[in-house]
Amino acid sequence: MKFDRGIEKKHRDSIEKAFATIVEKGDDFHRHMMNEFFESKMLIKVEPVAKINASGVTSVINTVKTNVRMVRERLSLRDALGEIYISIAAETIGDGFQRGVEGTFVHEGRHAYDFAQTLESLSNADVNPIGVFNPNLYEMEWEAHLNAGRWMLRVDKPDYVDEGVQLMILGQKANGSYFLNEDGIKQRLRDSYGLTVDGNVGSLASEMMGLRV
Ligand SMILES: [Zn+2]
Repeated sequence: MKFDRGIEKKHRDSIEKAFATIVEKGDDFHRHMMNEFFESKMLIKVEPVAKINASGVTSVINTVKTNVRMVRERLSLRDALGEIYISIAAETIGDGFQRGVEGTFVHEGRHAYDFAQTLESLSNADVNPIGVFNPNLYEMEWEAHLNAGRWMLRVDKPDYVDEGVQLMILGQKANGSYFLNEDGIKQRLRDSYGLTVDGNVGSLASEMMGLRV
């Protein structure tokens, strides 16, 4: 993993602290995902919210270069992660708002991982045409929301689980315990993203990355 040039030290410190927390408190997938990021050349950027219009965004660093590699090479997951960046809004980090930084990287991290899996899969499609992985936006958001929900449950602090309930990612049972609210996530994807499993499923990962495959 590499950091973009010119990132303020306080932002970089906050991001590195969030990564350490995710490794420390995350589940097996969170830890595996972070380890793949550390071992890859994935790029981390910090940009103004006015530019990215979200708390974070995940995309391909250079579409032209990635398309060339896709034609010429077979990519491993780690190779593929080197084509991807995650940008977090400076405003999300603020003065070390760790819950926001962690949540953004858990959600966007899942997108980065799925984009990389798509690149890996499509670049090897000539030898493995049947098992091609190329999820649509609905599937990608579903996985990102589950990844975020599992993170909130792992941390299990009031501000984390309260936010989870507010976002309909978590639910609370009568006995006070929290659970991954799959119906709530479906409702959120429909109401906030306009995505439904049997209606608008959004673009394919390959299309979002601008691949000519
Ligand atoms: Zn997302």
